[in-house]
Amino acid sequence: QPSSLSGLPAGVGEALEAEGVAELYPPQEAAVEAGVVDGESLVAAVPTASGKTLIAELAMLASIERGGKALYIVPLRALASEKKAEFERWSEFGVTVGVSTGNYESDGEWLGSRDIIVATSEKVDSLIRNGAPWIDDLTCVVSDEVHLVNDSGRGPTLEVTLAKLRKVNTGLQTVALSATVGNADVIAEWLDAELVESDWRPIDLRTGVHFGNAINFDDGSQREVPVDRGEEQTARLVADALDTEEEGQGGSSLVFVNSRRNAESAARKLTEVTGSRLTTDERDRLRELAEELRSVSDTDTSEDLADAVEQGSAFHHAGLASEHRSLIEDAFRDRLIKVISATPTLAAGVNTPARRVVVRDWRRYDGDFGGMKPLDVLEVHQMCGRAGRPGLDPYGEAVLLANDADGMEELFDRYVWADAEPVRSKLAAEPALRTHVLATVASGFAATREGLLSFLDNTLYATQTDDEGRLTAVTDAVLDYLAVNDFIERERDEVDGTERLSATGIGHTVSRLYLDPMSAAEMIDGLRDACADDATNTTDAMPAESGEYERVAPDDADGEPGFGTYSPVGDADDDVGDADDDTDDAAGEEDGKRTDITPLGCYHLVSRTPDMYELYLKSGDRETYTEICYERETEFLGDVPSEYEDVRFEDWLASLKTARLLEDWADEVDEDRITERYGVGPGDIRGKVDTAEWLLRAAETLASDVEGIDGDAVLAVRRARKRVEYGVREPLLNLAGVRNVGRKRARRLYEAGVETRADLREADKAVVLGALRGREKTAERILEHAGREDPSMDTVDADASA
Ligand code: ADP
Repeated sequence: QPSSLSGLPAGVGEALEAEGVAELYPPQEAAVEAGVVDGESLVAAVPTASGKTLIAELAMLASIERGGKALYIVPLRALASEKKAEFERWSEFGVTVGVSTGNYESDGEWLGSRDIIVATSEKVDSLIRNGAPWIDDLTCVVSDEVHLVNDSGRGPTLEVTLAKLRKVNTGLQTVALSATVGNADVIAEWLDAELVESDWRPIDLRTGVHFGNAINFDDGSQREVPVDRGEEQTARLVADALDTEEEGQGGSSLVFVNSRRNAESAARKLTEVTGSRLTTDERDRLRELAEELRSVSDTDTSEDLADAVEQGSAFHHAGLASEHRSLIEDAFRDRLIKVISATPTLAAGVNTPARRVVVRDWRRYDGDFGGMKPLDVLEVHQMCGRAGRPGLDPYGEAVLLANDADGMEELFDRYVWADAEPVRSKLAAEPALRTHVLATVASGFAATREGLLSFLDNTLYATQTDDEGRLTAVTDAVLDYLAVNDFIERERDEVDGTERLSATGIGHTVSRLYLDPMSAAEMIDGLRDACADDATNTTDAMPAESGEYERVAPDDADGEPGFGTYSPVGDADDDVGDADDDTDDAAGEEDGKRTDITPLGCYHLVSRTPDMYELYLKSGDRETYTEICYERETEFLGDVPSEYEDVRFEDWLASLKTARLLEDWADEVDEDRITERYGVGPGDIRGKVDTAEWLLRAAETLASDVEGIDGDAVLAVRRARKRVEYGVREPLLNLAGVRNVGRKRARRLYEAGVETRADLREADKAVVLGALRGREKTAERILEHAGREDPSMDTVDADASA
């Protein structure tokens, strides 16, 4: 039993032993020696799968034992519930866990009663902005994958959030878990923490490059893997791992590729390798799994995935529904699925060790770069780190692929022998500072320009920069922007000359809504513009629905540039519609409503904000969308840029493509058609829909807070929002708002003559059951949600209804 665990609840040592932790791993031992159980801050920079989570758990348990409260910041939303489930095994010691996944909660007050809270950095940021009362009570914060501060999209949020937490709670224990990076010491300096840095791994890792007829490993050894003419290196390597595993246990592989499409086609190809190597029992189980995958959603992706999985091969990328992903991950860990072809998302995410990792693509398309760009060393090392299953493999093998001797040399230099890059703060950029400066002022972290600059001094940026003036310059530019758009007010004190800063009412709203101020400005301008054109302009804005809305979607970057995000809701399921009783008003108001603000106009408005990830224009798209742009010119809120303003016009068209996707969804176009038409996965549709819904909701709130936007405009936005939320045309809104109904069922009920919630309460049960394809449980639930007195289907003859 680990001896060094005093300070933890009695029995933790035995519990760990029971789950196979006979002794601490060396980096864990070092962390304990550095005082992590005694409340010391710590940066642990150690390889993937070497037990970082347990270091964090020891810190949190000890902190809770001392009467404190812990926050665990996860890098991906998809990991939040997984971590929660992991930590819940401590409930036998009275430890409670809450997860804040971040759809439409308010300040998460209920989390105040939990000992451990799990959330993404964006969610924590949002909770701070909304004044969550328990933030002050935290005694321990864990930042998982802290090297993500290097990411220009999400890094600044993590950086500022940690700085805020540490400012509110002096003496807050900060435990930062990092992959091995070039400058962990700088992170430790920033966080005022002890540093544990190690290359130790529980299983040896051999990294090598395959070329010709062998893998050449870093330790000088070789493994013969001859590739026949016409055969692919990857397929050969996967087959080799499966065939040579000891004890008859098939050795599974992970194949990393650079795009979703490649993941799907690689998985299809690899069925040729796996399909012939399955036992009868495996075949049966895989067939069952395939059925389950198909039932998750009724789409081509789902179908393709199931087809491949039947043969023991799967793909994994951020376009999959979360249910798909977890089914695949579980089956891979159970060794039922023999190979997963994945985009890099998987490397950063869940625990899916494999016997062999094949890094097939080490370059990927980068839109900003305008071509293929080599992956970071850090990323490739993380992929390689997935090799080696504890307890199963003597060692793990990670293999890169080369075509010739020079290529092999290059890969050795570039990745095998290379150290991971240092992380660099990306804070001093306008898009990042726009939102964080406003939030910092609005939440009272700074009341003057000097106070703001001194707050920013607590960031990693300040720790590592040698250009002190830059942060100040960008901050000043951002302050100007925020003042011009009326989000903040500046006042110079006549006496001492200091500049006082405060957020305006609308500035507070923007901060709480978790909007990029530029998104807010774009939406306000667009709506004002539409109202100014309108002769019947009135100023009595509709009150928006109460409640605070938080950022829904783009907080789970997935390492795939240019693509959408993990679906925040998770499954592309039709049944997510909530019993929002106010759907009645949206459907009912035909009189006096303006006709000039259309759903497409609203969708385009939100699609061109920086908070929406646009779809890329593919070849031929420019012509298609230019045509649509002119056909529907009157619908846009705001002025269409000239075709000669190349970049702006191109952006406008990309937003139009996104808007058209949303319009299709709201027009009840089939999910399959949409995935095909726009080249996206079902998870992407869900992501875009959720982001649009969040932004339109935010637009409603903003519209009622500012002058110059009339009530009719707000109604038009609300209607557009509800249509995209439920994915239905106007007449179906009322019905689709009933819980468990959703877009497809709403359409079938409507066709059967059941047109409203009220109809559901009166309709012939056999008709309802028929429209719902004889599913009694579903029918009962729906009738109950519609408020029917007697929802029971017991008396209905199902056959008669069919
Ligand atoms: P990391 O977060 O560093 O990627 P994990 O914390 O997920 O790695 O650990 C990988 C695996 O090692 C987990 O399954 C965990 O239960 C196991 N593990 C961690 N510490 C020990 C230990 N001291 N002894 C045995 N197994 C351990």
